[in-house]
Amino acid sequence: MRILIVEDEKKTAAYLQKGLSEQGFVVDVGSEGEEGLLLATTIEYDLVVLDVMLPLRDGWSVLKELRRSGKLTPVLFLTARDSVDDRVKGLELGADDYLVKPFAFAELLARIRSILRRGPTRQAEQWVLADLELDPLRHKAFRNGQRLDLSPKEFALLSLFLQRSTEVLSRTLIAEQVWDVHFDSDTNIVDVAVRRLRQKIDDPFSQKLLHTVRGVGYVLEQR
Ligand code: CA
Repeated sequence: MRILIVEDEKKTAAYLQKGLSEQGFVVDVGSEGEEGLLLATTIEYDLVVLDVMLPLRDGWSVLKELRRSGKLTPVLFLTARDSVDDRVKGLELGADDYLVKPFAFAELLARIRSILRRGPTRQAEQWVLADLELDPLRHKAFRNGQRLDLSPKEFALLSLFLQRSTEVLSRTLIAEQVWDVHFDSDTNIVDVAVRRLRQKIDDPFSQKLLHTVRGVGYVLEQR
């Protein structure tokens, strides 16, 4: 397994390279955005660990260009800013996961293993399921050719469901990915958001795509 780390803080980069090498990964390091993008587009990696704040080209732009070039390499973002906006923006651009600095190496390793188990990222420039389509770069979603009017949160939620379609997503996972990691998953905010999303993407149409899996969570799939 080959991993690319794009990180401008030399100490962090060296520490991650050493730790991941010891775990048996082949690790390359890019020290700024342009170099990271060049490596990520020319070499086949199983995963890219991408810092958001980078010189020359930031992590958002690297991810955007990577996806635009058709590369589906999974991307784990490292961000110092634990804001909801970053989370939403990353999901829309097709990031696979986030880790907020500072983090424990064991946590990074667990996230990396989880992404690698999931297999190649399923998103392309357009994410499609049946007649439901989402275009992350143009920030538009359609069902049966009709433009869907979604709030930023609903858009992020739909991005997550499409990215991981056919996979049952727990409320906790949804809350972590779309809201804050420290979010209290006992509240029903996820259910409310899913209900609103369903009203827009499913209610007007005969074929339902967003399903409730009792006691577990939700899944977007064709039945
Ligand atoms: Ca940085």
